[in-house]
Amino acid sequence: MAELTKPASLKLELAGVMAAFDGKPVYTERVAEMPGAKVAGNVFCTRELICEYLGITREQLIPALISAINKPSEPEAVDAKDAPVLEADMPVDLSKLPIPWHAEKDGGAYFSSAVVIAKDKELGQNCSFHRMMVIGKDRVVVRILHRHLDEFIKRAGGELDVAFVVGAPINFLLASACSVEIGKDETTIANSLAHLRTVRLESGIEVPADAEFVFEGKITRELADEGPFVDLTETYDVVRKQQVMKITRIRHRRDPIWHILLPGALEHKILMGMPREPTIYNEVNKVAYCTGVNVTPGGCSWLHAVVGIKKAKEDDGKRAITAAFAGHKSLKHVVIVDDDIDIYSPASVEWAIATRVQADKDVVILKGQKGSSLDPSADAHTYATSKMGIDATKPLQAHGKNFEKAKWMAVKKEDYV
Ligand code: MN
Repeated sequence: MAELTKPASLKLELAGVMAAFDGKPVYTERVAEMPGAKVAGNVFCTRELICEYLGITREQLIPALISAINKPSEPEAVDAKDAPVLEADMPVDLSKLPIPWHAEKDGGAYFSSAVVIAKDKELGQNCSFHRMMVIGKDRVVVRILHRHLDEFIKRAGGELDVAFVVGAPINFLLASACSVEIGKDETTIANSLAHLRTVRLESGIEVPADAEFVFEGKITRELADEGPFVDLTETYDVVRKQQVMKITRIRHRRDPIWHILLPGALEHKILMGMPREPTIYNEVNKVAYCTGVNVTPGGCSWLHAVVGIKKAKEDDGKRAITAAFAGHKSLKHVVIVDDDIDIYSPASVEWAIATRVQADKDVVILKGQKGSSLDPSADAHTYATSKMGIDATKPLQAHGKNFEKAKWMAVKKEDYV
């Protein structure tokens, strides 16, 4: 961890510092405008840091996520007096919080690490990440756009009381980034990943008891401009009319730390992209034997995936393409490889494309698909996109061709110099 000794401004500078230290956690008590405020960024910026927190190995991470999604469990409910997040109250004034302005042409200062928790009478709870632009002392505009929260608001008649947390434990953050069916409370996934304590607010909403901050408020019918904002793809997302939330109460730990999640940086990529790997894995594994999924950082950890399979039937590669798109709706390009290819090595994947693909037979192109609202190349209004799947697996029947990478005689370099 790097602890800053030089003050940095909330306006652009702090984001610049987080970017310069990308890959390494940063902590500071030297926010230029707010002496004493504690801020952390790049907190969970590597898979290793997440594994260390969860007490598991790198190889166990995706299986642990898959098992948590498939076997959710109830978190431990604690009393308000035992919930650190309720230790202190503060006036509802967002200008008193170290909320950064990330990129020059952003529309304002943004909450980037906030998870919104909402409740529906029949569907139960939903937890999801939403970026929020500050538009007043007690008002933010929330990017809601086609998410479960959107459905919850519609079911409630257009307005909804919600809570959101900043500085939540990693099991809760990862679970909230998972795309599971509506009605599945993400806190139950978090609890299966690692023990989670929740506390019930007066509104009945249950939030992580060990978060740094909890905000309560109402998503109103009022619309305001949201954006521009540099998001996961590191390009400016367009301005949209989105719903305004009025914040009515702010509580926090006695000595709270603000969590900055720098858009497009490694922590954002890991938190947003990695939880798509288990859902892709689950879908592919229904149609073929899946050996691994990598949502690649070069593809913004969102739009590209490499999927490994152990082929048993000739059309397994093609079936895996369709399944991968079903497992992550925003996925745009996917490469299916055999299990002798290292899905984490771009060169190894390219080698498979180079030696095992004939474009007229092995490339699937789908037109007019529903794409990602974050993809600048998709249709700006409908998000329509084309998708491409590359089946880079070798045929089961080689017909006299050689697809194996030849191995040289194994020697020790030291013996020859
Ligand atoms: Mn959900």
